Amino acid sequence: MTAPLDDLLQRNRGWAAATEARSPGFFSRLLKQQSPQYMWIGCADSRVPANELVDLAPGEMFVHRNVANVVVHSDLNCLSVMQFAIDVLKVGHILVVGHSGCGGVTAALADRRIGIADNWIRHVQDVRNRHQAFLDGVAAGRRVDALCELNVIEQALNVCQTTVVQDAWSRGQPLAVHGWCYGLHDGLLQDLAMTVADPAQAAGAYERAIAAVQRRYGAAA
Ligand SMILES: [Zn+2]
Repeated sequence: MTAPLDDLLQRNRGWAAATEARSPGFFSRLLKQQSPQYMWIGCADSRVPANELVDLAPGEMFVHRNVANVVVHSDLNCLSVMQFAIDVLKVGHILVVGHSGCGGVTAALADRRIGIADNWIRHVQDVRNRHQAFLDGVAAGRRVDALCELNVIEQALNVCQTTVVQDAWSRGQPLAVHGWCYGLHDGLLQDLAMTVADPAQAAGAYERAIAAVQRRYGAAA
């Protein structure tokens, strides 16, 4: 065992003791039940830790993270997490959360080769290509953040189109999908207004959210 990892284990013991002291019986209660209301689909970036950003304790949010918060229809990992969250835990909200200055989005925008992840980031390049004409008109220094927001909206739409979400809606289970973007510079989450609680709302919400990004970033001057 190396010294730095000993430090982590020591921090863990301190955290567990402090948590139990603050809320006696905390861990034994969690042991009996996991009933989060939220599922988070976010970027793997270490600067965007899901629970901390929304000040939620263990047990309150089900989390899936990958490079650039991508939701691919054939990704059994993400789909499995989503199905468990929806069918078993019955979360009421799925949050797709991107962040400003995302490295995956930056690489996608610039066609930068970084390795195996090129194939994953290809999905973000699809988003870039879909909105290429708009992105070309955005000031160069803001283009990454514009694509970060567009990517959130597109991935949130993908969530809406998955069989697990469609099945939940068709059986009348309350479930809302949201698109948010986190600002690395100020620590604030922004609601991109891509909120869908019913399949009939998806297309309209998507159009409005995309139009709002275009308004925010449209003036290149
Ligand atoms: Zn990222």
